[in-house]
Amino acid sequence: MLHVARLAILALSASLALYAEPKVVLYFDALPPEILTDQQMKTEFSALTEPLGLHTEWRTLPARSGKGELGRLIVVRLLGDCVTTSDAASVESGEPVASVQEVDGRILPFIDVHCDTLVSLVRPAWKDRTPYEKRRLLGRSLARVLAHEVYHVVGQTHDHAAEGITKARLNSGELTARAAQIAPRSFSAPAESPASTSDAASTDGR
Ligand SMILES: [Zn+2]
Repeated sequence: MLHVARLAILALSASLALYAEPKVVLYFDALPPEILTDQQMKTEFSALTEPLGLHTEWRTLPARSGKGELGRLIVVRLLGDCVTTSDAASVESGEPVASVQEVDGRILPFIDVHCDTLVSLVRPAWKDRTPYEKRRLLGRSLARVLAHEVYHVVGQTHDHAAEGITKARLNSGELTARAAQIAPRSFSAPAESPASTSDAASTDGR
């Protein structure tokens, strides 16, 4: 049993060793409206990436001043309702929870998170939880989706790991659990190299 964080470190290390800049500035069009979700997203993301020496600044586009913008700028859009009270309809397995864009073989620094799909995917994992716990779990899942996409952007790679949060498909348990069980394989053996830059959600846990 290894922590998801450990997997992220392994996977991100591979690309950061070659491409990393020490600092990433994540520009959101708007942060998650639930404060606890926002806080948990930032805490979990930092826990995943700071051990790699990747430091993150969180900013919002409406407040952009341009001051102190050192490092790689990545724009993040949270599409749909990124709240635990969302009544987003259930999604089909394979719907993307996030995506990046590619032009001429280069992955652009724009990440879209499809919140309705994400909420629908992780909602079963917070059944019977308190509103407080739901917000924490949504924040945690947002952080893992973001770390996955930042891995693509920073590493300029479509590769996916066989296990962990840089897998091509993540289910609700992997997005919300404190720990994840993995096969004793290195991430260096990609599960697949898809042509698509969208990342699929798995609603059936397989
Ligand atoms: Zn991916």
